[in-house]
Amino acid sequence: MSKKDNIVIIGAGLCGSLLALRLAQRGYKVSVYESRPDLRTTDISAGRSINLALSDRGFKALRLAGVEEKAREICIPMYGRLIHDKEGNTFASNYSGRENEYINSISRGDLNGILLTEAEKHKNVTIHFNTKCTSVDIENTIVHFKSYITKEEFSVDADVVFGTDGAGSVLRKSYYLEKKFLFSYSQNYLTHGYKELEIPADKLGNHQISKDHLHIWPRGQYMLIALPNLDGSFTVTLFLSYDEGEYNFNNLTSEEKISSFFENEFPDALALIPNIKDEFFNNPTGALGTVKCSPWMYQNKTMLMGDAAHAIVPFYGQGMNASFEDVTVFDAILEEYEGDWEKVFSVYQNARKEDTDAIADLAIDNYYEMRDHVANPLFKQKRKIEMDLESNFPSEYFSKYSMVTFNEEIPYANAMKKGRAQDKALLNLIADKEVTTSLDMTKEELKVVLKKVQEETIEILEEDKVAGLK
Ligand code: FAD
Repeated sequence: MSKKDNIVIIGAGLCGSLLALRLAQRGYKVSVYESRPDLRTTDISAGRSINLALSDRGFKALRLAGVEEKAREICIPMYGRLIHDKEGNTFASNYSGRENEYINSISRGDLNGILLTEAEKHKNVTIHFNTKCTSVDIENTIVHFKSYITKEEFSVDADVVFGTDGAGSVLRKSYYLEKKFLFSYSQNYLTHGYKELEIPADKLGNHQISKDHLHIWPRGQYMLIALPNLDGSFTVTLFLSYDEGEYNFNNLTSEEKISSFFENEFPDALALIPNIKDEFFNNPTGALGTVKCSPWMYQNKTMLMGDAAHAIVPFYGQGMNASFEDVTVFDAILEEYEGDWEKVFSVYQNARKEDTDAIADLAIDNYYEMRDHVANPLFKQKRKIEMDLESNFPSEYFSKYSMVTFNEEIPYANAMKKGRAQDKALLNLIADKEVTTSLDMTKEELKVVLKKVQEETIEILEEDKVAGLK
């Protein structure tokens, strides 16, 4: 393999543009093909989440490519959740007891734009917009395209092809259509979809509710969340069943029904969303699903990355972060085995699959946690103890959320195993009344709790090992 290898990347979304940038920095010749127009010059936000939560795994990858600071400039820190009940009361729940641990709201379009601009600064990168990949001949590494501008169909002969074309990946489709190897694939949809709405800025251009929080209106069967934007607005996302329960996407078909749903369930949010009816009818309803598949690669020729390999539901705020982390992990393996794509691909898949499966499962767990548990008294007690442990013993206690979100050196699978055992240990202690949150505990009392949690976590991990659970 020479550095002049002709690399084709299908999809210039978040993962594809970061991958293009990193491979260009390594000296490869990279051609990127993106079905949409250039988002830096066209407004194409409709239908996809407008803003996202960026956290430490994402930052690590951006740092590797030298764009962390540029991204930080357009971030709004969110230090915790602000939970809204039906009566309009709110309570805050920080993400961590350590002050330097917070997540960041960032515009998908602006971040993607930064990555495209940085990638294009390299002479060895060419990005072709409005060009859809229609299929891939994986045996001969020939990629077929259609231009939306000229309507012309053409093919590109590549040395190596990366499919970063998102959850509906054409490369992944070519894997199971071509039947060249045993390809395992699952796609599981939630019964819930999502719709985006907007809380505009006030007349002075300021945020109408705290911009320091990710807002949640948890209602069991449905949920609203809101993330701040730099222009003073919030992007609000409604998660709702398609066809179950009293209110669902299929039966909210009239203005009256939408009003009564929001008046009953989210009255304080309703007061802040002036165009709710237009937005509800005109904005698309998106599906939420998990994609797992294996292998991601075919020989030394093609590789799936990002959502194309492992789309997950958005409830841990980790899909983009995980897709960026793919680039970090891949880059380290490329560094070690450069010159042998087959080795690079197989080592990468072995190193990464368990972790992306883990974050997929954690994201599903968090779907229930955000919908139901965040307002639950037991959950609140547990979070309070965790906050106290983290602030009093910052280098000794890390909650599952902290390990997943802020500890980029802990692989997702390890964070999941330890985090789940720790959660179980804490809930056992609360159930057995061995800890109480009715009074603030002294540091000495907390130290005792820490020791008990640590011991019980080890026991649970041992039991799981014996039972063969991963
Ligand atoms: P994508 O961003 O989907 O990019 C794929 C690109 O490929 C697109 O530009 C597309 O136009 C292009 N493409 C597709 N097909 C073709 C084709 N045939 N030919 C050429 N180009 C093609 N993640 C977080 O980390 N934090 C969050 O807070 C968060 N919130 C989310 C909220 C919602 C509602 C959703 C749905 C997702 C959220 N995610 C979040 C997940 C995140 O959006 C994805 O994980 C991330 O976008 C994956 O990046 P990607 O580049 O792999 O795929």
